[in-house]
Amino acid sequence: MESAELETAIAGTSGVLFAALFAYVLVEALLLHFWRHRFRAREMRMVLLSLLTTGGVAATLTRVIGLIGIAEFAGLGARLAPFEFGLSFGAWIHAWIVYEFWYWVMHWSGHKVRLVWCTHSAHHAPGAINMAVGTNHHVLESLLVFPFFFGFMTALCGVHPILAVGFNVIDGLWGSFLHISDEVVPNGRYGFLEKFMQTPSFHRVHHGKNARYLDRNYNSVTLLWDWVFGTLEPLRDDESAVYGITRECDTGSFFDVHFREFVLLWRDVRDADGWGDRLRYLVKPPGWSPDGSTRTAAQQKIDAGLDERRGLPGLLGAI
Ligand SMILES: [Zn+2]
Ligand SMILES: [Zn+2]
Repeated sequence: MESAELETAIAGTSGVLFAALFAYVLVEALLLHFWRHRFRAREMRMVLLSLLTTGGVAATLTRVIGLIGIAEFAGLGARLAPFEFGLSFGAWIHAWIVYEFWYWVMHWSGHKVRLVWCTHSAHHAPGAINMAVGTNHHVLESLLVFPFFFGFMTALCGVHPILAVGFNVIDGLWGSFLHISDEVVPNGRYGFLEKFMQTPSFHRVHHGKNARYLDRNYNSVTLLWDWVFGTLEPLRDDESAVYGITRECDTGSFFDVHFREFVLLWRDVRDADGWGDRLRYLVKPPGWSPDGSTRTAAQQKIDAGLDERRGLPGLLGAI
């Protein structure tokens, strides 16, 4: 398929599929309200504000500096890439492996680098999992972090920009499905797919704040890189995920969910002794402190008697 045809096909199908997705977000919200009586009005309002903020900022930036997003970042990456694999069958395989690699790196840094966590924690703050929560991202993450990793870095590794955009559509759709409410669909396991695909059960683990489940299952479509890096964790029958983040958080407050982490980080940096610790606060995992008085996820796992070193290299999962 020629690149122009592919571009048209992606634009057409993704428009229809995302419209269907948003329709389901509404249907699920109605089911949660009228059928399960578990509608969290304040959290839903916070999510709506997130969507409006991101949409408003994106529209303003687009007006000021032209189109922005995955496609534009991918175009920039492609211009700087030393090579490009084109659109052959082999290129699609290469593109998917590269896309998922950068997805894993993006998501790992979102959990393990405190400055990046300040943006990603908004997605994890709600005390429930549902399709609306799946749409809840910090404006900086949607407009900067995602395009940098999925567009720029993927294209820089030789992926055709159209494939980067196409896989982002697949990832966006499947990644949304991962958030299907456990109140509406209690069983998040899907048979043989559990062997190689991320499913709602894996993503329920990812949203869990239980020590065992912290910082696990970073990918959004397959299990490949979580398996390689030792961050894969299946949902256990004897331990449900407790959703949310480990600090106190008013999950109905837009400010608390989207900006409190920045305030807390600023206070730690301001009060630190010396520039070394100031820098470490920015790049070390959330929970790190010079004297060890607060605990990172890895330390919490060890405290809970869970073995942290696992998987193939078992190194990155252990940080
Ligand atoms: Zn996450
Ligand atoms: Zn999620």
